Amino acid sequence: MTAKYKKERLKPCPCCSGKAEWVELTTKEVWFWQISCACCGLATIPDEKKFYCLQRWNRRDYKYKINTGWMLVILFSLIFIVIAFSLGLATGAGMIK
Ligand SMILES: [Zn+2]
Repeated sequence: MTAKYKKERLKPCPCCSGKAEWVELTTKEVWFWQISCACCGLATIPDEKKFYCLQRWNRRDYKYKINTGWMLVILFSLIFIVIAFSLGLATGAGMIK
């Protein structure tokens, strides 16, 4: 189990692009896994299954990229609306005269 997931690449931290690393947490009987950023300490919630831990971490990075994309889309939409509105005012004012 360990060897299988060691090959899986951990994506860099979504906050600081720092190096992510595996953290082993043990209670009396259960082993928990957690992925933590070595730079800022951002971490996934501990999970018994290493696989889910990995999925969460890598999905977090993916989500972060999606959010950035949406923010750009919204930003460009706003700029477009402002330009369109200004042009509309300019042409509208021109027609009145
Ligand atoms: Zn970090």
